[in-house]
Formats: sequence, C-alpha cells, structure tokens
Amino acid sequence: MAEPQELATDVVVVGGGLAGVCAATEAADHGADVVLLERQPALGGSTVLSGGFVALADTPMQRRRGITDSADLLYDDLRTVGEERNDERLVRRYADSQALLYDWLTSRGVTFDAVELSAGQSVARSHHTDTPTLIRTLTERAVAAGVTVTTDAPVLRLLRAEANGRVEGVLASIDGTETRVMARRGVVLAAGGFCHGDEMLETFAPRQARALRIGGAGNTGTGLRMAWALGADMRDMGYVKGTFGTHPSAASDKHEILLAFYLGAVIVNREGRRFVDESLSYKTLGDACLDQTDALCYQVFDQTVMDASSPGVPLFDLEALLGRGLVVTADTWADLGAAIDVDGATLGESVERYNRAVAAGVDTEFGRDGLCHHAGELVPLTRPPFYAFPSTTAMLATYCGLRITPDTEVLDVFGEPIEGLYAAGEITGGLHGTAYMTGSSLGKSAVFGRIAGTRAAGAKA
Ligand SMILES: Cc1cc2nc3c(=O)[nH]c(=O)nc-3n(C[C@H](O)[C@H](O)[C@H](O)COP(=O)(O)OP(=O)(O)OC[C@H]3O[C@@H](n4cnc5c(N)ncnc54)[C@H](O)[C@@H]3O)c2cc1C
Repeated sequence: MAEPQELATDVVVVGGGLAGVCAATEAADHGADVVLLERQPALGGSTVLSGGFVALADTPMQRRRGITDSADLLYDDLRTVGEERNDERLVRRYADSQALLYDWLTSRGVTFDAVELSAGQSVARSHHTDTPTLIRTLTERAVAAGVTVTTDAPVLRLLRAEANGRVEGVLASIDGTETRVMARRGVVLAAGGFCHGDEMLETFAPRQARALRIGGAGNTGTGLRMAWALGADMRDMGYVKGTFGTHPSAASDKHEILLAFYLGAVIVNREGRRFVDESLSYKTLGDACLDQTDALCYQVFDQTVMDASSPGVPLFDLEALLGRGLVVTADTWADLGAAIDVDGATLGESVERYNRAVAAGVDTEFGRDGLCHHAGELVPLTRPPFYAFPSTTAMLATYCGLRITPDTEVLDVFGEPIEGLYAAGEITGGLHGTAYMTGSSLGKSAVFGRIAGTRAAGAKA
C-alpha cells in the first residue's frame, strides 16, 4: 500500500465554519503558517445556514438604540439559561471577550443590521449579520493573512507523536490521496456539531429521534470522534436539544423558523391546548414539543402580534412567512382551528384562558410572566384576523462536545490537556449547560475560535 504523502505547516485548522475561519485568521495574524482543511466543497458549515444572530453585550449598536447591557448581565443570563450546569470559567471568558469581538468583526468589514430580544436574554442582544457575507468577508481576510484553504479535504484522524503523545498533525484525504499534514505548533478542531450524525445522535440524544435535522452537511461528528479516540472528555452531552419553531416542511437547504412566541404568540398542540410557558428557551420548548401528538404544534397569534413583525429579520418576519403561504389565517378561532385541523372550540377556550391570565397578571397554568425570559409585556390575543404557524422541533446544532479550558485546550477524561490540541465552536461543550441563549453559538465560535488560533500559534490569548 502506498505511504501517505506528507505536508508540514505550523497550525492545522479542521473545519471551515465561523470557528475555523476565526482560528485560522488569528493564527496567521500571530505569525503562523496555517492550513485550513474543510471536508465540503465550500466553507461555511452550519454557520452559513444559521439565523445570523450573535449574542454580544454593551456594543455601540445597543447603546445607539438605548439598550443598557453589560458583560456581567450577559454572564448572569448565560448562567441562568444553562441552569448553572455550564462551566462558569468558559461563561466568564465568553462574557469578558465578546466586547472585543464586535470591534474585531466590524473592523474586518462585518456589518450588523438589527439587534433583537431572543431566547435567554433579559435585554435585546442578538446582533444580526448576513452569514454568507460574514464567512466570505472573514475568509478573504484569512487568505490575505496567508492562510491556505483546502476544500474537499476531510480530516480522518488526529496524529500523535509516539514519544510524548503530543498531537502533531492530522491524516486527511486531499485530492483523494491520504496525506499527513503535520502541525509544528498545534491543531485546532473546529469541525462543528453532529446534527447529521445518526450514530452520535442515537448514542447521546435518542429523545431527538422525531426532530427534523438541519445544519451543515459535513456535521456528522467526525471531529468529536477523533478527539474521543484520543481520550478527550466531553460536556453537556445529556442536554442535546432541538430548536422549536421550525416549519414542518423544512429541509437542510431550505427552512423557515419563526419565533412569534417571543412577540406574544401562544403555542398549542394538535388538541388545541397550551402545554408550556412560551417565554422559555426555544430549546426547552423543543423538548416539550417532541412530547406532543405527532411532535406538531402551532404558534397562534392575532393582528397585534402580526404588527410586531420585523421585515427582513430572520425568525421575526411574520409578514414574509404570511406572504409565502406558511402562516394560516382566519377571522375567528373556530375557523382557524378548522383550517389547521385542530378543534376550534378547544383552541378558542385556550386563548380565552390565556387572555384572562394576561388581564389578571398571572398565568397560573404555565407561569408565563413575559414575552421572553421574563422580559416584555404580555399582550392579549383579541384582534382579528387570527394566525397559526405550524411548528415542530429541529436539530440545528448540538451545543455540546469536547471539554476545553478557557484557553481552548482539549482536556482528556482525567482532566489533563491533550498537548497540541485545541478546539472551538460547536464541537465544544461547557458554555451552554442545559439550554441555550440565542446568538451564543455563533458568539462562542468566534470568541473561542480566535482564542484557539492564537494559542495554537503559540501566543498568549
Ligand atoms: C438553521 C440554523 C440556525 C441557527 N441560528 C443560529 C443563530 O442565529 N445564532 C447562533 O448563535 N447560532 C445559530 N445556529 C448554530 C450555529 O450556526 C452553529 O452552532 C455555528 O455556526 C457553529 O460554527 P462552527 O464553526 O463551530 O461549525 P460549522 O459552521 O458547522 O463549521 C464546521 C465545519 O467543519 C467541517 N467539518 C466537519 N468534519 C470535518 C472533517 N472531518 N474534516 C474537515 N472538515 C470537517 C464541516 O463541513 C463544516 O464546514 C444555527 C444553526 C442552524 C443550523
């Protein structure tokens, strides 16, 4: 059998989503020769399919809009939404580093066009950016900094030095040829999550079997497996959850997600009944939906909620989805029920009970006390026409994985760093804990991607 060919560089980055591109750029900016290997024909991974919301606090954009936020409030919110099961050192590092991220991104030509209130946030801090433009812009900067980007190049294994166990490179398939790409300084794993990894999902998240799957086609968990084979420890594996709010017709390359419940909609099941506090993280709602008949629910709202639509902003553009025929509408609750095959009388009673709770200021049934994460005033659903958006749960991202230090060193099952190996982005666990704040996944990919690239290049982050 032919010997694999061999290449050498300073830093190898595995995966070309946001974490990988940020890591590669930082490593190159710190003087390293960098090779980025991406298994798909193009960079982008789940990043380019995402909603494009980045959780950032105390930014110039928030200040311009009169939103008071801080790193400490972000820290507290992340700890709360993760039910304090997240790693406080990672959360602290994220909260303290994200302020610089806004400037780092905008100075590289990245733009943000909206800031929204979303899951797990006590103030609006989901900064929206167009993700294909984000990846294109950052990739151009990475290439200009000297990074060699190789696509169609799946990494197959991590290579360890026999003498001391240090990770010294990777085995990849480049142009169909097995190639040892040696890394003099370090390897960064930025290979994303495992939303398309059937075996990994079966092992770690069998409850999600009924969830749809949406995400980067290359995200099958191969990077996680390679580190696992070296004894890497993992975090948050028991908390894998799908995201609620996805239209049941979704496919990976075409999907619609709506968060009308954070604008005041209620969620009912096929029986026409509410079953959950709609202001909770959409991850928690995702689990609750999977327990309902056919895992199918409806976001139900009135014209007042429709009027809160944000044109052009993903997840909150109700009018656009109405225009595309994905939102069902009727003048009465009975007719709306008939249109979605839900008992209209039960639906009407559920909404009436909710409206009475809003008027009384207390939702004794499910404890909803705000639009989203205790923030925002509830609105009664009384103004026709009425609307319903069919929704289910989709695995978009797995938000769990390798145990890392705040400096992104990968730890083994005994808590020792695996020398030479760093990880960032969705392949890592620890930041989120039990649930998820909108924008914290893109945020962690960029924050910890930058740190991983810096550390792998041998610099202090
Ligand atoms: C529909 C959707 C909406 C979302 N919305 C948001 C949002 O608004 N805000 C937010 O914070 N998060 C959101 N997320 C989650 C977020 O997009 C991801 O968690 C984040 O982009 C992960 O970035 P990453 O760089 O770690 O991984 P990815 O962007 O997935 O990149 C990983 C890359 O590694 C490659 N790869 C995998 N294995 C190998 C291998 N063996 N060799 C070489 N390459 C490999 C993959 O092909 C992929 O290109 C959303 C996700 C989806 C799917």
